[in-house]
Amino acid sequence: MSNCVTICPVGSVDEEILEHIAKCIWIRCGLTCRISKRMENPQYAYNPTRCQYDSKAILKRLFQRNLHGTLRLIGVTSVDLYVPILKFVFGLAQIEGKCSIISLHRLHPRFYDQPSNPDLLLARVEKTVMHELGHTFGITHCRDRRCVMYSSVRIDDTDAKHTDFCPTCFELFKWYLKKSLQKSSE
Ligand SMILES: [Zn+2]
Ligand SMILES: [Zn+2]
Repeated sequence: MSNCVTICPVGSVDEEILEHIAKCIWIRCGLTCRISKRMENPQYAYNPTRCQYDSKAILKRLFQRNLHGTLRLIGVTSVDLYVPILKFVFGLAQIEGKCSIISLHRLHPRFYDQPSNPDLLLARVEKTVMHELGHTFGITHCRDRRCVMYSSVRIDDTDAKHTDFCPTCFELFKWYLKKSLQKSSE
């Protein structure tokens, strides 16, 4: 099954969230998902100065996995991620690559001292997953604030955008997806 998207928990992640991601990808992209075995807590990526985890180091580990039969691999973690030049990232993807990683850490309303809100959390998870998945298919940032490919610098950006691609990004997505599926069946 080469058109399968693998969802890989990195460290401990709520099963309900993983299943939600699988459902969203199926509904939005028509791609079947499988939830893989949990990867170890990413201690190797921990930066004690920043008290955060290096997203690139985790992405590298994901890429070292056996990706045979996997169209895309999405890592999901509860730890706080960063790249050196930014204070934090909600996620990171290999552009036109197979792997991406998202962090739930800053998607929880409690991170902003707000009451728990499962629906809001799941909506943020969905937008973050679709955004990173879009990058792995080769789509870059979009200038339309409502498009899921708009770059989220803060959580307000995520909340303001839709879970869908804008019409232009959607056309690109369909085109890239078709190309990827052709490549994987060769
Ligand atoms: Zn992005
Ligand atoms: Zn767009």
